[in-house]
Amino acid sequence: MFKAVYLTRDGRFEARLADLDEAMLPAGGVSLRVEYSTLNYKDALALTDSGPVVRQFPMVAGVDAVGTVLESDSLDFAPGEKVILNGWGCGEASWGGLAQRARVPAEGLVRLPSGMGARDAMALGTAGYTAMLCVLALKKHGLTPDTGPVLVTGATGGVGSVAVMLLAKLGFDVVAVTGKPDAVAYLRTLGAIEVIERVDLSTAGKPLQKERWAGVVDSVGSHVLANACAQVRRDGAVAACGLAGGMDFPATVAPFILRGVTLYGIDSVYAPRAQRQEAWDLLTGLIDPALLASTSTKIGLADTFAAAADIIAGRHRGRFVVDVNR
Ligand code: NDP
Repeated sequence: MFKAVYLTRDGRFEARLADLDEAMLPAGGVSLRVEYSTLNYKDALALTDSGPVVRQFPMVAGVDAVGTVLESDSLDFAPGEKVILNGWGCGEASWGGLAQRARVPAEGLVRLPSGMGARDAMALGTAGYTAMLCVLALKKHGLTPDTGPVLVTGATGGVGSVAVMLLAKLGFDVVAVTGKPDAVAYLRTLGAIEVIERVDLSTAGKPLQKERWAGVVDSVGSHVLANACAQVRRDGAVAACGLAGGMDFPATVAPFILRGVTLYGIDSVYAPRAQRQEAWDLLTGLIDPALLASTSTKIGLADTFAAAADIIAGRHRGRFVVDVNR
């Protein structure tokens, strides 16, 4: 038997901690003894039934996990290896990682990089790995610390916090946008040189505004993304990965056709393995474990329900690491 965050919809939705039989795990793939999982925004939507994340019930929640391979039908992973799971439909279409055991598709796994601890891997989780994909998109576009400052929206969130840390470590001037005025000191600790209040960007603005940013990492969407695009300098780039503020994009084409701005869409869920491993290997060298620890709170499986509600209400800061054996 193993413990898992179990979601059912028998008439009405229920999220609870359940004891499940290992025989219930899906067939095939790679089976894991999970050490840690985490709570991403998507997991919070699933646990609170606030968005259409879960595509079949019953479901074991959790898009992320880190643990040890127990059995594998993939030649790429052998028993005893430490691996990280991110996405690939886990916690949405197939059973996920908020559990003591998981059996998951090999495509969603990468090796835990040497030099990275299991807890750190989940303090980063899909949010941190996605932040790295965003930063890689901006770097591949040609951005360097000399091309100008980079704006990070949703800055106290998982993606935002890690994006601020990574860009600062790479030498960029990072300007953070937050809806939490009391988070200025926190964001400066992560490496932001300036903090802007979200309210300045969260209503409809002009199609083209003063050119300020060489690049943007956006996890918010809606007016914040539209205004950020309108403030990007000629030939700059925006990496858009999230919708914490809304799925809409009330913008015009003006920044793209009059300033040559490029909008990159970032999808971590089905990114190919080579891209995942590149992102995780780079994260290992760029993240300061002590700083990362200061952005995360350790909880147990039973605490995930309250934490998910905090995420949806926007009350939290940084990341939750879930010790599945606590
Ligand atoms: P978090 O909940 O940790 O952070 C989101 C942040 O957005 C909050 O901390 C807050 O930051 C800001 N925010 C919250 N509510 C609102 C609102 N109503 N309007 C504007 N800003 C708001 O989530 P994550 O960082 O884990 O994920 C962020 C987004 O990225 C989510 O939409 C998630 O689904 C998406 N995502 C996408 C991935 C992909 O592959 N494309 C992968 C991972 C995440 P502050 O208070 O500082 O403004």
